[in-house]
Amino acid sequence: MMDKTSENLKQIWNEALEDVKKAIGSSDYETWISKLYLIEIDDDTAKISAPTKYIGDNVSWRYADIIVKALNSSGCNISYLNIDAYDNNNVEIIEKSDKKTPKNLASMTILDKKFTFKNFIVGKPNEFAYAAAMRVAESDTPAFNPLFLYGGVGLGKTHLMHAIAWHIKESHPEKSFIYLSAEKFMYLFIKSLRYKDAMSFKEMFRNVDVLMIDDVQFIGGKDTTQEEFFHTFNELVDNNRQIILSADKSPSDLDGMEERLRSRLGWGLVADIHPTNYELRLGILQSKAKKHKVKIPNEVLEFLSMKITSNIRELEGALNRVVAHATLVGKTITIDMASDVLRDLLRSNEKYITMDLIQRKVCEFYNIKLSDLTSAKRQKAIATARHVAMYLAKQLTTKSLPDIGRNFGGKDHSTVIHAVKKVKENIAKDREFATNLEILTKSIEN
Ligand code: ADP
Ligand code: MG
Repeated sequence: MMDKTSENLKQIWNEALEDVKKAIGSSDYETWISKLYLIEIDDDTAKISAPTKYIGDNVSWRYADIIVKALNSSGCNISYLNIDAYDNNNVEIIEKSDKKTPKNLASMTILDKKFTFKNFIVGKPNEFAYAAAMRVAESDTPAFNPLFLYGGVGLGKTHLMHAIAWHIKESHPEKSFIYLSAEKFMYLFIKSLRYKDAMSFKEMFRNVDVLMIDDVQFIGGKDTTQEEFFHTFNELVDNNRQIILSADKSPSDLDGMEERLRSRLGWGLVADIHPTNYELRLGILQSKAKKHKVKIPNEVLEFLSMKITSNIRELEGALNRVVAHATLVGKTITIDMASDVLRDLLRSNEKYITMDLIQRKVCEFYNIKLSDLTSAKRQKAIATARHVAMYLAKQLTTKSLPDIGRNFGGKDHSTVIHAVKKVKENIAKDREFATNLEILTKSIEN
């Protein structure tokens, strides 16, 4: 039995934190985990306090598995996390009362209440994956087996899987389903080997109607786990159970995956989620903005959609930060305020825009040669394009003026200052020029 004195808890927590940090990296650790602490361990539940609901929610859906695992390896024997910010009920742990779900599986299926079909904004980049997920959720017999969702980080894979689970839970309460990360799958498998309990591991999965495993790229390279996964997979498919998988790559690109498994994974329906476009980003922000109490001008949403192109998770995070800031210090939300609050994020999103890209796009737009752009030629068309390219380099990258000058055939910084000034003057007095510049900027940013 565990001694539950606070000293002891502290020690357990510190040990677990080390593991979590190793698992997720120090930057995510600082953002999400470092501000949490363990309040108590009550039977099979660890009570953890988070500073805000936002952090609590995020930790719950991102890291619950990892934290449970870390706590268990530092001597606990828990199945549940109860993060303080649960008050608002955003995360639901499917309780043991789900009769068909074996008891020891209850803690795996942690679903985020926000991740529903209703809350999923559909656009060109994700419409196919959305339709496929919907189809699987609504089918009585397996529609495609497996449904394999893939796409880059933060583009909505987990959201769609949870949405399928919620849908099944509502429309087919008699069906059992399991949602878990591939990491958790491996962890359970390895644990079952250690305790010589592989049979009960198999039992857990054998009777489930719908099995969802998130981020299966992590199974790559782990031979025994792969083997087990393959067997579980085949058995379920043979018994006409639905399997849904996600990964950051298509089945054929999964590293370290055995060939037979790789090819088997591609037998069903493979649906990819493409990187976002401006319209989708704006649609998502507009829908999220409605849920906040403060007023967020549309131009700020447009600004964020234009600037934060990496993924939806970052985009949401940006909006939340702006709102939190406005609420805390009682400021109204403006573009200036947002760019100030998000300085670091905007900078990291900018790093994808290179000088090279700007120059290429400007040359395409003005239909001139790259060698003209970096020459000293003074024809009006060429000079204008050069000014615009320098101006955009100043606006869209973090390069210094001398640096920018050097990239234009060794001009000095005063030439760049002059170019920026010229372009600003033109924007002010020439409507068509301003519109063109806007279009050009968008094409570089997307
Ligand atoms: P992934 O699993 O692909 O890394 P997630 O499913 O965790 O990404 O999504 C990251 C965040 O973005 C989540 O908060 C999710 O709700 C949100 N999100 C992703 N796609 C959409 C969408 N189409 N509409 C609304 N929110 C979305
Ligand atoms: Mg995910």
